[in-house]
Amino acid sequence: MKNLILLMTIVTVSVQVFAQKPLEDFKPVLKSTLAKSIKVSYEKGYAIEEVKPNIYVLTDGIWQSAVIVTSKGVVLIDAPESIGQNIKKAVAEVTKKPITTLVYTHGHSDHIGGSQHLADIKNLEIIALAEVATFLREQKDPRRLIPTTVFEGAYVIKKGDKQIHLSNHMNYHSNEGDLFVSIPDDKFLMVIDVLAPGYVPFKNLDLSNNIGNYLKVFDQILAYDFDVFISGHLTGIGTRTDVLQTKAYVEDVYATVKRVHKTTNMMQIMAAGAEKIGWDNKYLLFDTFLNHVIEESYKEIESRWIKKLAGVDVFSKSHVSAMLNYVRWDD
Ligand SMILES: [Zn+2]
Repeated sequence: MKNLILLMTIVTVSVQVFAQKPLEDFKPVLKSTLAKSIKVSYEKGYAIEEVKPNIYVLTDGIWQSAVIVTSKGVVLIDAPESIGQNIKKAVAEVTKKPITTLVYTHGHSDHIGGSQHLADIKNLEIIALAEVATFLREQKDPRRLIPTTVFEGAYVIKKGDKQIHLSNHMNYHSNEGDLFVSIPDDKFLMVIDVLAPGYVPFKNLDLSNNIGNYLKVFDQILAYDFDVFISGHLTGIGTRTDVLQTKAYVEDVYATVKRVHKTTNMMQIMAAGAEKIGWDNKYLLFDTFLNHVIEESYKEIESRWIKKLAGVDVFSKSHVSAMLNYVRWDD
């Protein structure tokens, strides 16, 4: 009995939902965002949709990979862990050609951990940045197969009737490098973990390890000639408008945090706290200043973006907080 009660306690704790406020109080996803989403059947677990001639997006509703069918076989861009076991089945729905090539946009396991399900493909070429390959050899992660072809800077895959350009402009997201994948003939561009069409970026500005580079990435994307943009997340297929909209959002977060931080009197905020608790707990007093800047900035961002992009009340406070770290210590 004691064991049963203990077990029930563990089970209850494991499903407890942690959030700032009741889930029902968050804004539903905007209708305009849902309208341009690929519909995924949750029984089937994935959807594969043609976005350009012989170029498909494969998604499970949260992650995306690209399936490029060339006259000489299939090139996959990323193999998300969550879609991994469905990749071969999904590809077989659209072509009889074999998967010959896999490209890693970056080293994160959520985008390439599904490669383990492709381990039995004979002579599968796996292309990645040299630094990503070094990182993966160190990680010894059985989910992520080791690249077979590596490069630095830029690389062009010439495969049958398709030319796929890979390039590492700068590290805007991960430590080892992040690829832009473009097919100029089809005006197709895939850049992972910058934005999600119709939504604000994922938490902490898409977990960017370099906010300075993240701020610059939008202009680098817009320098390409494309009309289909694949972001790697959720179900929307993006366009230039989505990139421009997220750029405007991120620039607003930057300008707002910079102004609020500059015009907030740190000593005044800390002194107000010290009146209650004295000056010993400097961490806590300094944190009241940081939180003041975050709350004031968030109020503005929420008012300007809540009706334009989905997820403002979920992740915008984290964006403001990440931006404050950049503005105060790097900018
Ligand atoms: Zn990532």
